[in-house]
Amino acid sequence: MTVQEIIGRARSEGRGLLTEVEAKELLKKADISVVDTRLAASRDEAISVSEKLGFPVVLKIASSDVVHKSDAGGVKLNLETAEQVGQAYDDIMAAIKKAYPQAKIQGVSVQKMARPGVEVIIGMSKDAQFGPVLMFGLGGVLVEILKDVSFRIVPLVKRDAAEMIRDIKGYPLLEGYRGSEPVDVANLENMILKVSDFVEKNPEVKELDLNPIFAYKDGAIAVDARVVLEDAA
Ligand code: ADP
Ligand code: MG
Repeated sequence: MTVQEIIGRARSEGRGLLTEVEAKELLKKADISVVDTRLAASRDEAISVSEKLGFPVVLKIASSDVVHKSDAGGVKLNLETAEQVGQAYDDIMAAIKKAYPQAKIQGVSVQKMARPGVEVIIGMSKDAQFGPVLMFGLGGVLVEILKDVSFRIVPLVKRDAAEMIRDIKGYPLLEGYRGSEPVDVANLENMILKVSDFVEKNPEVKELDLNPIFAYKDGAIAVDARVVLEDAA
């Protein structure tokens, strides 16, 4: 499906929030690196997709009504066997039915467990005055509690991307801190530029979050993606 088809289908179904699978599909088309992620509509399908992808895998609730998947018990990491996948599927469905009794559920997303990296975030929101603005920060508590983030207005040029990464207080963590390996900052700069490009070309996108991205010494990959659409005109 094309970007327009994915957006069109969500709108025709009255969904302003794309599923993780759809969001990652859009980003992949923009050449942004994301963990290969499939939708499974049933317990059996979750198991067969896991076997195809290869263990260990991650299962997540796939529903446009669930924004914060892990808060609701909708994320199960590091599943190593078919039995564990089946159990995780049952646990996720039970947790979501409890937390969101009204939620329309498409199934679960199935993806490979990514190797650990330094967690970073790229986000986009729209400012009334400046239009689309990109945010960069380090993942987890550094963003949530310390608000250690930087912003630049879309469209960004290479220099903006380089500066916004170096602007955050946590930048030394990316350079390699006390023996930890430095991450591939050039790759993150490129990813920021690709997101800027994507946002510029797709004004129907109202909000975007790649949270988290795992940054490595050789590249980076988004393991979660959230896309919110503008109201259809
Ligand atoms: P949400 O943000 O909706 O709660 P996420 O998809 O971000 O759900 O998953 C929660 C956490 O699980 C992530 O912050 C990340 O640390 C971990 N995680 C998610 N997907 C993967 C994956 N494919 N491989 C490894 N860890 C993952
Ligand atoms: Mg997330």
